[in-house]
Amino acid sequence: MKRIIVDAYAKINLSLDVLRRREDGYHEVEMIMQQVDLKDIITIKEIEKGIIIESNKKEVPTDSSNLVYKAWDIICKKFNIDRGVYININKNIPIAAGLAGGSSDAAALLKGLNKLWNLGLTKNELMELGVNIGADVPFCIMGGTALAQGIGEKLTRLNNFSNIYILLATPDIQVSTAYVYKNLNLKEISVRPDTHKLIEYMEDNDIDSVAKKMVNVLENVTIKKYPIIQEIKKDMINGGALGSLMSGSGPTVFGIYNNEKLLKETERKLKKRLSKVYSVKTI
Ligand code: ATP
Repeated sequence: MKRIIVDAYAKINLSLDVLRRREDGYHEVEMIMQQVDLKDIITIKEIEKGIIIESNKKEVPTDSSNLVYKAWDIICKKFNIDRGVYININKNIPIAAGLAGGSSDAAALLKGLNKLWNLGLTKNELMELGVNIGADVPFCIMGGTALAQGIGEKLTRLNNFSNIYILLATPDIQVSTAYVYKNLNLKEISVRPDTHKLIEYMEDNDIDSVAKKMVNVLENVTIKKYPIIQEIKKDMINGGALGSLMSGSGPTVFGIYNNEKLLKETERKLKKRLSKVYSVKTI
């Protein structure tokens, strides 16, 4: 039986700005999105009917609340398909951590079903379908480095920013994105990223300036509830990171390094206190 295996990569935000709240409740954002090589592995097999979702991690939902279910459902409805799938999610990306793990799994499923059933959808068509699952899904399909605007779905590809040393550390808490946006007071944001300046630094491959000028306006909301995020940021800077930031709505913190030895030393220290610490690279 045909089996498709797709990698689902995590993302970090090199900057995250919230511009305004729209009438429909969504927030208009401006973010620099960057894929990293921490990944879930999604295996897809056709079965006669319905959907079976399995995972190596018990925290991963296996019912219709899993975003891969939504991806399967959208494809079946669009193409009037009544075949089923078995999906195995080998989960390595921390859950509810600001790394878009669920969105990336859904993106992988759209790509995988496109192949499994020879649907002939282009990348752009997959991205258009993906936004119905979640605002981060189109980026997870596109991959690489991008400026995300609108609710996160309007994407502009940016120059390659690959092979940069990144340390990720996720404290043992799960943060609800909805909670963070609900508690964000747009009038209280005092420091915003200069997104276009950051893009210029990235184009010049000036990693030091990128690292030092990164801003995520959601940080204060999440840190207020979970001060450990601030502590990890400090640990990364003290350990030689050029800069450190919370990713998405948290709680994952990442540090940018230009020295693999310093990164490994910080990794070793953080691993004494935290179970989820990963040394990765941008892709
Ligand atoms: P984002 O950065 O896009 O907000 P996140 O990385 O913070 O995403 P996810 O890992 O996607 O968060 O998980 C958020 C919630 O989504 C979890 O609490 C989980 O119950 C649900 N979920 C649905 N599908 C998945 C999936 N495939 N993997 C992990 N969580 C999933």
